[in-house]
Amino acid sequence: MKPQTNKTITIGGEKIAPGQDKLVYIGIDRLPTGTLIDIPIYVFNSKKPGPVILIQAGLHGDEINGIEIVRRMIYEKYFKIKKGTIIAVPILNVFGFIHFSRDLPDGKDVNRSFPGSKSGSLASRIAYHYTTAILPQIDFCIDLHTGGARRHNYPQIRYTLDDEKSEQLAAIFDAPFTFHSDLINKSFRKTAFRNGISTIVYEAGESMRFDDFSIQKGVQGILNILVHFGMSGPVFMEGSKTIYLQKRRWLRAPTAGMFIPKILNGTDVEKGQVIGIITDAFAHHYKELKSPMKGYVFCINHQAVVNQGDALFHLGSPS
Ligand SMILES: [Zn+2]
Repeated sequence: MKPQTNKTITIGGEKIAPGQDKLVYIGIDRLPTGTLIDIPIYVFNSKKPGPVILIQAGLHGDEINGIEIVRRMIYEKYFKIKKGTIIAVPILNVFGFIHFSRDLPDGKDVNRSFPGSKSGSLASRIAYHYTTAILPQIDFCIDLHTGGARRHNYPQIRYTLDDEKSEQLAAIFDAPFTFHSDLINKSFRKTAFRNGISTIVYEAGESMRFDDFSIQKGVQGILNILVHFGMSGPVFMEGSKTIYLQKRRWLRAPTAGMFIPKILNGTDVEKGQVIGIITDAFAHHYKELKSPMKGYVFCINHQAVVNQGDALFHLGSPS
C-alpha cells in the first residue's frame, strides 16, 4: 500500500506543500500612510497526514502572552511536527498590536465581528478574510488570550459545553484550571463552532505584560496536544492535573477606593477568608473583602484604584 501523503495548504494565494514550512500573509488593508497591513501566518506542513491545528494569538492586540507562546514554540522548533499541520498565527490583530490596544483604531473588537463581511468595518473585513482563508482548512483551534483591562487570569482553559471535542481537547491541554464558558455572539469561537470546528480558549495572565508562568503553561498545554495526536514526541511533561471549576462567581467592589489583594492568584480560599481590602488615601476607611465561597481564586484585578461594582476577584469551586 502506498503511504498516504499530507494535503497542500493554500493561504493568501501561496501553496504550502507537504514537507514545507512557510511564512505567508493574508493582505488586509493599508494604513493612511499607504503601508500595507497583513496578517502573518506560519504554516508547518509535515509530509504525513494528521490533524490540522490552528494556533492563534493576538486576536486582541494587547494580549501578548499568546504572541510569546507562539514565538517561543517556533524558536524551540516545537512545530517541526512528525505528522499533520500547524497553522500558527502569532498576531491576528496587527492594528491593535502596534497601538497596544485590544481593539482596532475605530474601537471595534475583531472578536465581536465574526464571521465578518467583505465590505463591512475594518474589524468585519479582517474577520471575513481570516475566516474564509483559514476555517475551511483546519480541524480545530487553540485560541490564546489574556485577561483584559488589568485583570490577571491564572492559566485556564475554556471549552464549549455542547461540544464534546472541545471538552476532550481541554482535558488534554491540562491547564491548571478548566471550565466551560458560553459562546459569545460574533466571536471567532462561535463562528468556528457553527462551521463544525472546535475551539479551546487559553486565558492566562493580563494584557500588555509578559507572565512567564502563563507562557510556560501555554507552551506545555499545546505540547500536550501535539504529543497526544502523535505530532511530537514527549518533550517535557509536568504531571499537572487540571481542576474543573463548575461554580464560578465574581466578587465586586462594595465601595470605591484603593484595592489591595491579600492573596496570590491561583490559591485556594475558605469561605469568609479575607482575600483583599479596599481603603482610602487617608487611613480613615478600611473594608475587608471576604471570599463568598470555598474554592479557588482564578482571576485578580490589578487595578489599584477601583469604583464601586468593579469586578475584583473571580472565584470558582469544583462543585
Ligand atoms: Zn482576549
